[in-house]
Amino acid sequence: MLARLVQSIFGARKNSFSQLWCPVCGEKTVSFLSLPDFYREKARLHGYEHFGKGEMISLETYSCSHCGASDRERLYALWIDQHIEKGFFLKDMRVIHFAPESALSAKLRCLALFNYKTADLLIDDVDYKVDIMDMPFEDESFNFFICSHVLEHVESDDQAIRELYRITKQGGCGILVAPIVVGLEKTIEDPSVKDESERWKLFGQNDHVRLYSHDDYVKKVRSHGFRVEEFGEEYFGREVFCSLGLKPTSILYVVSK
Ligand SMILES: [Zn+2]
Repeated sequence: MLARLVQSIFGARKNSFSQLWCPVCGEKTVSFLSLPDFYREKARLHGYEHFGKGEMISLETYSCSHCGASDRERLYALWIDQHIEKGFFLKDMRVIHFAPESALSAKLRCLALFNYKTADLLIDDVDYKVDIMDMPFEDESFNFFICSHVLEHVESDDQAIRELYRITKQGGCGILVAPIVVGLEKTIEDPSVKDESERWKLFGQNDHVRLYSHDDYVKKVRSHGFRVEEFGEEYFGREVFCSLGLKPTSILYVVSK
């Protein structure tokens, strides 16, 4: 019982019967590497009490040995592949990827399946350098977006979600994911905290300003008009989760307008 609890809190199960593979690079003979010790050391140094309790962060099977894709990128790629098979993505669809994760972004660009653009405020190598809280796009510009691990950085996540809703076409949808701590009752946030050490302690990273609880996160996203669907291990299957090195508590949040 204890072993199972520890396993579900701290990482994906090791399953010798599962053939490991990565849907980002498509490699069938990968291994998954642990989260760099840097984060554990920072958590210990600054007294961050939620280390290892993130819904999605799989400490032991974090990144793909072949392409470097993180656990969450693998989950997004799986969902996208499944939807490509279902014929969901059409040639003229406009897709925007915020804070594009490099391995996933390379895959999506390579697919050449839809009109794919990238956006970020800080990195240069993107199609649009934009502030997600105030975007220069017309209303209803995009059919689909990916916005992962952005909302915990911005001063007003409400304003960012409002903007995402505004630029999404009616009938469009997106992958909208942020770090959520399993078992956390209320979201912890304070954008006025600027001290890096204090941010490590409160939010687990020096450039984060909030830490979400599951219920508060879903409630907040819904409050701006999005429908929210949650796809976890029950939806994708346990065997698939094991093959991709995903933590059993991982949830993919897909929002639609
Ligand atoms: Zn890979």
